Amino acid sequence: MNFLHLERATLDSFLPGLDETLARRPLTELESAPSPAIDAFREAGGPGLLVPAQNAGSGLTPLQAVRVQRAVGARCPSLAVATTMHHFSVAGLVEAAKYGTGVEGLLLEAVATDRLLLASGFAEGRTGQNILRPHITAERRGERILLNGSKMPCSLSRSMDLLTASVTMKDDDGVDRLAVALVPAESPGIEVRPFWRNPILAGAESDEVVLTDVEVDPEMVVLTDVTADAVPDSLNVAGFLWFELLLTAAYLGVASALVERVLERPGAADDPTPYLVGVDGAMLAVEAVARAMDDEEWGDALLVRALTARYAAQDAIAETTRVCLAALGGMAFIGSPDGSYLAAAAVGLTFHPPSRARMARPLRDWLDGRPLRIG
Ligand SMILES: Cc1cc2nc3c(=O)[nH]c(=O)nc-3n(C[C@H](O)[C@H](O)[C@H](O)COP(=O)(O)OP(=O)(O)OC[C@H]3O[C@@H](n4cnc5c(N)ncnc54)[C@H](O)[C@@H]3O)c2cc1C
Repeated sequence: MNFLHLERATLDSFLPGLDETLARRPLTELESAPSPAIDAFREAGGPGLLVPAQNAGSGLTPLQAVRVQRAVGARCPSLAVATTMHHFSVAGLVEAAKYGTGVEGLLLEAVATDRLLLASGFAEGRTGQNILRPHITAERRGERILLNGSKMPCSLSRSMDLLTASVTMKDDDGVDRLAVALVPAESPGIEVRPFWRNPILAGAESDEVVLTDVEVDPEMVVLTDVTADAVPDSLNVAGFLWFELLLTAAYLGVASALVERVLERPGAADDPTPYLVGVDGAMLAVEAVARAMDDEEWGDALLVRALTARYAAQDAIAETTRVCLAALGGMAFIGSPDGSYLAAAAVGLTFHPPSRARMARPLRDWLDGRPLRIG
């Protein structure tokens, strides 16, 4: 079967054996917490995929990365979501390293060499909260910075080696700015509490991480240019670009696993296009933006294209999962939870920031010539 062939070949060339390891396990086992998929990803060297080659990583291009993410999503939805958060944090570090102090490069090398997993805590469990306006605070106390607050849901909460968390910190002029703190998971004052109450995507370990008077070195806190207006700076535009593409590819992979089951059902010889065209077309849009990341400016216009590809994928997933479940039929529905699980998990793309409804006003404003705001 040639479906997903390119994506699986790309995954195999960077993480040999991972696809086979995941394919051997039942979906229900991979999707429960704790999931064996997270250790398998770590053992295969997954943490270093986006770390540049000069920092001992695999240095994947955006195009290679989205193909890998789709292949992972087609085997283990929870792993694809969880590792999207990891790669997003790594991509942020790579960006910060371009004008940082040098500590970012050392951290990247440690991520690749020691196979460290990074969690990414931006959300704080409140509907309607802007992702660029965190409530968690970072306060200077002498030589140290103290963090207080809570992040939820936070994928990889139970397997992380480092937490990257968005915080609000005052700059030298007393203005509140968005900053990103890097905190070792073993730091005193970090506690993980149950938060995720849905069996769908439970393997991503998206629980709550509570920080109480957690001390960090000031070198581990990167202050961005984002203030209360929520206009992303170049670091955040880069982060969102990577995030939207990896996330969309991951969830397209989940829907593709359902398509694959339809294409491979016994005696199937019907027209494959109602199952294929939606997800493959949406993936081509993701790939087009990933290719553009190689030779176009990483600005508002490219981010809008990434968001367009993502929202188009949401529509494609809704339609594809509907026709695939119908094609698999009632006996498949009764006989195994896998089809309905994949359909429900694939819809998860809708719930990540920034949601389509939240971007309605900012997109209108951007079309009318104003800077792009997120949510
Ligand atoms: C599987 C999974 C894993 C996750 N892992 C992480 C993680 O590791 N780290 C992390 O930081 N976050 C994570 N998240 C959380 C995610 O980042 C979101 O913050 C969270 O799901 C948003 O919840 P919400 O939809 O209730 O809130 P909102 O995004 O606020 O939206 C709620 C609803 O209200 C609508 N709405 C809200 N505001 C407006 C507005 N201004 N105008 C119009 N409509 C509006 C939205 O469209 C939506 O329909 C994860 C989410 C999922 C599903």
